[in-house]
Amino acid sequence: MFTQAAQLMDLAPGLEEKIRVCNSTYVVRFGVRLRGQIHTFTGYRSVHSEHHEPVKGGIRYAPNVDQDEVEALAALMSYKCALVELPFGGSKGGLTIDPRAWDEAELEQITRRFTYELSRRSLISPSQNVPAPDMGTGEREMAWMADAYKRLHPEDINARACVTGKPLNFGGIAGRVEATGRGVQYALREVFRTPEVLRRAGLTGSLDGQRIVVQGLGNVGFHAAQFLSAEDGARIVAVAERDGAVMNEAGLDIAALQTHLRATGGVKDFPGATYEPDSAKALGLDCDILIPAAMEGVIHAGNAAAIRARLVIEAANGPITAEADAMLRERGVVIVPDLYANAGGVTVSYFEWVKNLGHISFGRMERRQEEARHRLIIDELERLSADKGLGWTLSEGFKQKYLRGADELELVRSGLDDTMRGAFQQMFAVMEDDGRVPDLRTAAYMVAIGRIAASYRALGL
Ligand code: GLU
Repeated sequence: MFTQAAQLMDLAPGLEEKIRVCNSTYVVRFGVRLRGQIHTFTGYRSVHSEHHEPVKGGIRYAPNVDQDEVEALAALMSYKCALVELPFGGSKGGLTIDPRAWDEAELEQITRRFTYELSRRSLISPSQNVPAPDMGTGEREMAWMADAYKRLHPEDINARACVTGKPLNFGGIAGRVEATGRGVQYALREVFRTPEVLRRAGLTGSLDGQRIVVQGLGNVGFHAAQFLSAEDGARIVAVAERDGAVMNEAGLDIAALQTHLRATGGVKDFPGATYEPDSAKALGLDCDILIPAAMEGVIHAGNAAAIRARLVIEAANGPITAEADAMLRERGVVIVPDLYANAGGVTVSYFEWVKNLGHISFGRMERRQEEARHRLIIDELERLSADKGLGWTLSEGFKQKYLRGADELELVRSGLDDTMRGAFQQMFAVMEDDGRVPDLRTAAYMVAIGRIAASYRALGL
């Protein structure tokens, strides 16, 4: 996918390879004494590109984590950050572990030890490398990491900015948990505001009533499905999970399904839905939009022909293999690529990092300024009305709301919306302006590679 885009660009000799390769990967094996014996764990932190520092990207806990995966995901982070114009290079980490096999106290010990190993190599640091949640990790792990880092670097006044995705009461930011799913929603809204892309996909109308299949009801899939159904009127006709898929043509109740999933560990026996034990079949169900929100490589040469959706939006990282990508493109399926579609998470991570470095709660100064400005406007309107006998009145409710201004969550959401709209239009313009660009993914890579190349040109290597 990278090469396809790079070939359409006029890069200096050798620069293409320099941008493509991963700069470094640290592999660490460490022992933790648990359950009366020493267990050895393998962890990775890969740095793809340091054209901006810190480098940024999640840390995943999964049994299949390996060096290739972490390096590919680190590369994707570089392109993602470049596409949405965040001043970060790309990185990714992972621990080869089944997090469900360990209890909370054990995971805390393992995480703190892993943080120590990363810290020794400056692979966790507010100014050099800032991890975040990914598959199998969340606020809890980020809090442990931030705390472990703080203990190792008590003199670092910016210690909290060493990871993002922290709990709200520990330096986190409102709206970070929902951010990736929220970004998927904003991305789809922008698709539906762009008639040319809808026409390519053969879709009509608005998001209201679109039939959607979601694969994976984790943090990303859940929030995307919940917002699209509850706020935009889309119908989630099927959800695929580990133990199978549930279907309901009238639309599934996503909040209830998540409660069921948490309580029972699966989607089977969810009331009012048809159950299919083979979750892979869900990908081929008839629908308008398919949202793979689980992991990489789920749509491949072996099942791409069975996909019936007109539009696939990659909420997960790398859910479509290069072969499947070409097969789907040939059939006219529009793919909204991962480096754009799931950039909401890292975008709000950026807001969190800036908030931490600012050492002031986000929006606190702005809100005071806004309040003062709004107070002036209200006073002026009321004075004008009284002076000229116009009889205007402003309700107390309106005044209160207007005076209060935006809170942190509103600021985060509007910043994210703006980011998703802007990036979509930039990649869309590249696709439209250059007849050789076959799809949104190639366009997205061209925008991202162009920006990284420009950094290297300005900085030297
Ligand atoms: N793990 C997320 C991703 O793949 C978020 C990374 C971040 O916030 O740094 O984009």
